Amino acid sequence: MRVLITGGAGFIGSHLTDLMLHHGHTVLAMDNLITGSMENLAHLDGHERFAFIRHDVTEPIHVSGPLDAILHLASLPSPVDYLQMPIQTLKVGSLGVYHALGLARAKGARFLLASTSEVYGDPLVHPQPETYWGNVNPIGPRGVYDESKRFGEALTMAYQRTHDLPTRIARIFNTYGPRMRMQDGRVVPNFVGQALRGEPLTVYDDGSRTRSFCYVSDLVEGLYRLLLSDEVLPVNLGNPREITILELARLVIRLAGSSSEVSLVSPKDTRTEDDPQTRQPDITRARELLRWEPEVALEQGLLRTIAYFQQRAASAG
Ligand code: UDP
Repeated sequence: MRVLITGGAGFIGSHLTDLMLHHGHTVLAMDNLITGSMENLAHLDGHERFAFIRHDVTEPIHVSGPLDAILHLASLPSPVDYLQMPIQTLKVGSLGVYHALGLARAKGARFLLASTSEVYGDPLVHPQPETYWGNVNPIGPRGVYDESKRFGEALTMAYQRTHDLPTRIARIFNTYGPRMRMQDGRVVPNFVGQALRGEPLTVYDDGSRTRSFCYVSDLVEGLYRLLLSDEVLPVNLGNPREITILELARLVIRLAGSSSEVSLVSPKDTRTEDDPQTRQPDITRARELLRWEPEVALEQGLLRTIAYFQQRAASAG
């Protein structure tokens, strides 16, 4: 296949690029580099089946030649980013999807939307199956991300129903691993960076909120299987092992061999407004439809992530 990956210089996009190249496909990676980085693709310099296109998907997308698939990952998924860039977040989640779908239609390409567990908002059903419609505050600080992703899903289904476009929707739950930005603001890079620097780990409020963390290699395997499947309805992809943020902080300190302490802090800004209390994917559909299941244990994935950040800190001097 010749595939376009938007957000290809990002954390998940670059790992997906590697996986597609590994399977023998040709990859065009597109990114405006607002949050993505060429360092994530540096190892592909000179690769004969790889090319990079710098472009902002909120503008119409033009690609020459045939395309078999478009994997639309361009997004601003860190709460810190979308609180700082709310309008860009809404544009990429709406106009970006519209342009990518238009291109898929023009090329007769398969389309995969990277959606999110944030469509469930602060969930009232636990764990979350795909049939749950969610509990989202449209006008809260997270609304810019959540509602644009919900719009993206609606638009994707409209193209599927109206134009019979072969579309796929992945609802991605918290994912972590190498190539996350140290300054990303999300909990895993924050905690790993703090633990390695010997600083207190900033656990927000009382640390009782829960999340379920999926290692990136498992996640991209799920995306690949979903792309190859015939499933047009949304599929949750994530690791069902649920943990409180306080437990996560203690685990990171132990695995990093750090002397850091845990510090309970209540951010004064909107960072924790509408912050979901719990989150855990119900992956029954992914298991049955894709024969997919995460394989990397949290401890194992965190050790690899810690090693990555250690190496980055060392090479930065
Ligand atoms: N969090 C925290 N300390 C941090 C960063 C995040 O306690 O330094 C909490 C945050 O309030 C949320 C959870 O960790 O409850 C996961 O946050 P993240 O930003 O990684 O992703 P989210 O799942 O909220 O999109």
